[in-house]
Amino acid sequence: MDFAFMVSRSILAKAGTMRDTLLAAWAGDQDEMAIIIKSRDEIALMREAGRINALALEAVRQAVRPGVSTAELNAIAEEVIRSHHALPVFLHYPNPTYTSNPYPATITASLNDELVHGIPSKRRVLKEGDILSVDCGCTFKGFVGDSAFTVGVGVVSPEAERLIRITEEALYQGIAAARVGRRMGDVSHAIQAYAESHGYNVVREYTGHGVGRDMHEDPLIPNWGTPGTEVALRAGMTFALEPMFMLGSPKVYTKRDHWTVATKDHKLCAHWEHTIAVTDGEAEILTLP
Ligand code: MG
Ligand code: MG
Repeated sequence: MDFAFMVSRSILAKAGTMRDTLLAAWAGDQDEMAIIIKSRDEIALMREAGRINALALEAVRQAVRPGVSTAELNAIAEEVIRSHHALPVFLHYPNPTYTSNPYPATITASLNDELVHGIPSKRRVLKEGDILSVDCGCTFKGFVGDSAFTVGVGVVSPEAERLIRITEEALYQGIAAARVGRRMGDVSHAIQAYAESHGYNVVREYTGHGVGRDMHEDPLIPNWGTPGTEVALRAGMTFALEPMFMLGSPKVYTKRDHWTVATKDHKLCAHWEHTIAVTDGEAEILTLP
């Protein structure tokens, strides 16, 4: 049976007839959290969701150039996702603060000092030297793929290029640390150490997360942490790792659209993300084309 390996009291309360089984599973681990272990078949569906998501992002990436609007990029991603019989996950996603303001698009397109959740618009046209972070999620047969990249538009400054590259490399540092026998704190620490050793800051308000049938499952996966702490990693756990690094201060604010998150000091930031599955060997990246 594939279900929560570690379960919270709230999950237990909801579990009904499953309660005794879940309690037995819970007793085996002191970590009080609802991390859902996926079966091989479920991971196969996540791999397909991830592949479709990667194809959508690849199509967006190829369209990035000066003069293109972020609304056009959004349309490209949506077309790829729907043509593969998948559904956008971000579209209509509830706003955490304002329930009347669900997310209106398939991708988030965040420019320069914007970190995440930038809303695509016909009026936002890419310029030479911008940096653009695109995040996207899709559901295929009930499972989610979630990934993101940052790219320069045309020629960008050396400092922007380095920030983008180091943030991407940090994602792979985190993925390499996600192995059976290690703990989530090892993954978080690998990302943080990579950021700080290159002189970057890590945002504290946003984190990676478990992913599966829902885009956001337990646990939260901070981009900072202490080795040897937090949840022990098990094969079949699936995570979205997503380093978000900033050139300046890690402080952010949310713009008046109640979605777009940007740096307070207006300095550049970058964001990379993959959905991965923990296996008995190296973690498998599920969001590959
Ligand atoms: Mg994402
Ligand atoms: Mg994510």
